[in-house]
Amino acid sequence: MHELALLDELCQLALQTAHKEGAHIIQSLRVQIGDLSGVDAEALRQAFAVLTLQSSWKNTRLELEVVPTRCFCPHCKQAFDPPDLMYQCPSCGLLSNKVLQGRELQLIAIEVS
Ligand SMILES: [Zn+2]
Repeated sequence: MHELALLDELCQLALQTAHKEGAHIIQSLRVQIGDLSGVDAEALRQAFAVLTLQSSWKNTRLELEVVPTRCFCPHCKQAFDPPDLMYQCPSCGLLSNKVLQGRELQLIAIEVS
């Protein structure tokens, strides 16, 4: 399950950040997951639930922010939410290959004390 490996990476990053700030307790992790990142938010949540059985993480919350896919049409010069994986502009029908967001997979914030 690659969500476990991923979570491990996010947690290491969070620990490093907390350490740098001299914090000892991480209260929450805020993670952005793009629709296109291939990561299953539910699987990530479950992986985290397992992790919180360990004492060092038991008081930490995981906040997931799912980022919807958004494309840009160079013809209409506007961003749009593609209805499916075709990325077709709803105004002119052009197929866009410019994805503005949806591939995110990152730790955006941690709350420490
Ligand atoms: Zn268009």
